[in-house]
Amino acid sequence: MTFALSEYHQQKKEEFRRFAAAELDSGSEFPWTNLNRAAAKGYMGLPLPKEWGGGGEDFLTYILLIEAVSAVCASTGVIMAVHTSVGTYPLFLYGRDEQKKRYLEKLARGEMLGAFALTETGAGSDAAAITTTATRVKGGYRINGCKIFITGGGEADLYTVFALVSPPGGRRAMAVFLVEKGAPGLEVSPPERKMGLNRSATTALYFNDLFVPEENRLGEEGAGFGIAMSLLDGGRIGIAAQGLGLAGACLDYTAALLKKRIEADIEVGQGSLFTLADLSARKQAAALLTYRAAVVKGCGRRCTGQASMAKLFSTDLAVEAAARCLDLAGLEGMSDNNPLARYFRDAKVTQIYEGSNQIQRIVIARELHGG
Ligand SMILES: Cc1cc2nc3c(=O)[nH]c(=O)nc-3n(C[C@H](O)[C@H](O)[C@H](O)COP(=O)(O)OP(=O)(O)OC[C@H]3O[C@@H](n4cnc5c(N)ncnc54)[C@H](O)[C@@H]3O)c2cc1C
Repeated sequence: MTFALSEYHQQKKEEFRRFAAAELDSGSEFPWTNLNRAAAKGYMGLPLPKEWGGGGEDFLTYILLIEAVSAVCASTGVIMAVHTSVGTYPLFLYGRDEQKKRYLEKLARGEMLGAFALTETGAGSDAAAITTTATRVKGGYRINGCKIFITGGGEADLYTVFALVSPPGGRRAMAVFLVEKGAPGLEVSPPERKMGLNRSATTALYFNDLFVPEENRLGEEGAGFGIAMSLLDGGRIGIAAQGLGLAGACLDYTAALLKKRIEADIEVGQGSLFTLADLSARKQAAALLTYRAAVVKGCGRRCTGQASMAKLFSTDLAVEAAARCLDLAGLEGMSDNNPLARYFRDAKVTQIYEGSNQIQRIVIARELHGG
């Protein structure tokens, strides 16, 4: 049993930290510059096999990347995490060879940006309640309905869209469709004005009789719900890494601030140092939970409970760290352009998506009693 990152993972962590610090910015527009820089380094498909344009790295290495990126720009972090874990992986896991040839390599190289369209009004936590339909027509399907809060909406090149198919005489069955940007019948709303993660465009998608050819159905009719659920563990570990990155950014900023105050002979108070000590200890715990879940997933073993614990603990910690560090910063933290204010707003959002933290508690409780 070992609790330390291997020398290789330690080097990768340092490489990603240097990349994020030197090459990423935390501006205000959709972070194409950051994404293009990540693509140039081969970071947009890090855990995908090399034969499909990926980096051939293990899942833990990918998690270290999301942590490092999120510490500088959590919006870029979530776009990369969504692109990889739920925008690209479904093609790798369920795509037919011709679908992989058409899309997977470009996604893994970062030449296309992937997005994931499942959530609807009334179908967030309860994904089975979606009402978007895909009606069979000659040569394919016509999709009608509306998705909301889609990360990368309007920017992404390829959407993985979940809809209900009604086979003649059969029960409605969820299926997955690959929809390209600009497809006739696809309308995108203006980005939501959110409290945080503001650089990550989040939009509604409207499907108005949108035609999808048969060859763009991913997996079988009826396989949609299983596909969505199979992606959750990986997605949740990615968001845990995002929380970890944000918590680390709060701690680093505040430790430097207190050091400056101490050097200037300004009273800091032992209480402030104890707060940082408590948060640092909990950050270690969050890292252990997150890395453990990533290692278990990387081995191909079931990691549902571990992924939920990591997501719950890390994202709750990110909010707590941001709130406590804002307390310690005092007036300095109140300015809208102080990074702590941004970390706080960004962190709050991570408790909600990829399964809210209440849903993580349900998953963990279920794992406890085996239900
Ligand atoms: C910034 C952002 C980006 C997103 N990106 C995407 C994306 O790219 N693709 C996509 O498909 N979706 C995306 N989402 C949607 C996200 O997955 C949903 O917001 C999430 O699943 C929660 O759904 P909801 O908001 O409808 O909340 P609801 O399901 O309505 O839940 C509301 C509250 O009730 C609680 N609750 C619900 N059910 C239960 C229960 N059974 N027991 C206890 N408590 C419960 C929840 O925890 C929550 O606190 C994004 C959301 C955000 C905020």
